[in-house]
Amino acid sequence: MAKSDKSGSNDRAGMAALSPFELKDELIKAAGGGVVERPANLSMLNAGRGNPNFLATIPRHGFWQLGLFAMRESERSFAYMPEGVGGFPKREGLEERFEIFARENKGVPGIAFLAGAVSYVRDQLGLNAGDFLYEMCEGILASNYPVPDRMLKLSEQIVAQYLRREMIGKHPFVGDFDIFAVEGGTAAMTYIFNTMRENFLIKPGDTIALGTPIFTPYIEIPHLNDYKLKVVNLDADVAKGWQYSKAELDKLRDPKVKAFFLVNPSNPPSVKMDDESLEYIAEIVKERPDLILLTDDVYGTFADDFVSLFALCPKNTILVYSYSKYFGATGWRLGTIATHRDNIFDQQLAALPKDQRAQLHERYESITTEPEKLKFIDRLVADSRTVALNHTAGLSTPQQVQMVLFSLFSLMDTPDAYKNALKRLIRNRKQALYREIGIALEEEDENAVDYYTILDIEYLGERRHSRELVDWIIKNTEPSELLFRLAKDARVVLLPGRGFGTQHPSGRVSLANLNESDYTQIGRAIRELMDEYIERYQKATGKKADKSK
Ligand SMILES: *Cc1c(COP(=O)(O)O)cnc(C)c1O
Repeated sequence: MAKSDKSGSNDRAGMAALSPFELKDELIKAAGGGVVERPANLSMLNAGRGNPNFLATIPRHGFWQLGLFAMRESERSFAYMPEGVGGFPKREGLEERFEIFARENKGVPGIAFLAGAVSYVRDQLGLNAGDFLYEMCEGILASNYPVPDRMLKLSEQIVAQYLRREMIGKHPFVGDFDIFAVEGGTAAMTYIFNTMRENFLIKPGDTIALGTPIFTPYIEIPHLNDYKLKVVNLDADVAKGWQYSKAELDKLRDPKVKAFFLVNPSNPPSVKMDDESLEYIAEIVKERPDLILLTDDVYGTFADDFVSLFALCPKNTILVYSYSKYFGATGWRLGTIATHRDNIFDQQLAALPKDQRAQLHERYESITTEPEKLKFIDRLVADSRTVALNHTAGLSTPQQVQMVLFSLFSLMDTPDAYKNALKRLIRNRKQALYREIGIALEEEDENAVDYYTILDIEYLGERRHSRELVDWIIKNTEPSELLFRLAKDARVVLLPGRGFGTQHPSGRVSLANLNESDYTQIGRAIRELMDEYIERYQKATGKKADKSK
């Protein structure tokens, strides 16, 4: 079969270097391109986006009600000025006034949650309810710079409880950790790469390991001129349910490997690392106490009984978390970076060669009299505003308020009503997709998270037909041809798996982004496309060994 049989546009070669997220834009163009006749009512189905189409309503209602209360406080604290000038809330009597407000608004969405949150903070977390309300009111009014800049005080304690519940669970954990509230998980990545470089924890020419497939920026950033890092991939194996073999994990024993960057549960396979692998890494870390670990656990809340690498190797691990996915809050830009108070980053900073320490002394001396003692996490804060603007660093205070309300909502979500509703939602979508493709789903893997699913040509082709079909397709189609066909013929947009570092040609389907009926439609389009390729394969080879029904 000639390659000229491809359906596609002119300039696919140039697309090979595109990030999946950029290629997606080309696919969207193809899906809207009007080249092929299609029913007018068939609109584009973009399953490329990781952005969820659901969102947590209750803590948002809570946010708006809190805003109304805070406005009342602001206007109460100033002599009435019709020009619209208010003041800061007053700490004195705040709790009592909130109780009155809650009573007056009984039954209004968000009020029961807010009142419950205040009780929870007081009775379960042992914090002062008035202090909490004061921090929240000041925060939502946003009339002061964030102080402390790393994170508001009670907010940090509450978010720490949330991270403990979701990332550590019942795993033993000794000591406390610090949190830097940031503008989403992507800001966390930017800040961490930058501060590690500025502080000589990673240098150009150094080697880092990536657990692949992985969220594409982790692949792209190390290659940038700013970093010039060498990369070793640890490949998760589709045949092992996307777990890492011991042989792959053993690559971390190489002392050249300075750091290991991991997304767990993974994106795109959407599988959490099994307990055996976590413990195996912890064993390696005993042998390699200098190994820096970064785990991006954005999807941890969708897994059953999730335990982060941070729980097992707290001193070596930088924990990145984002509220974007679980709360449907990508527009809020809410994320956290957490490090244990006793960690190897601070130790490594103290052990740097003298000239490097001197450089860093100069870098940070404008913000502290003892730059040598500035913790790694506080260097992240300072560097996020180019050091000189450290005093205006930090996440905007209303963002921190919403982050706290999301955290409290989840802490109070017993027994996991919201969590189970989300799991049901995405898992039903997966069932619908595979049912239409015509492939029976294997027994559900206990580590599967199902926020995404990878449609792997080898996996699908072998199950629908035969290994020979797979080989023929790979030989006779161009990279991303199938994705372009899906876009043009069925207006279905998936992301190419290749850019995430998958080994086989594949498409990433987000199960978070569309409704169940859409996944049925996507499944049907995929089945039709496969049928077409099976037919072409049979014509070209004269083979008819079709195992499909
Ligand atoms: C979606 C995603 C993020 C992005 O988080 P934001 O908080 O929206 O910036 C980070 N890491 C991974 C692995 C993701 O999939």
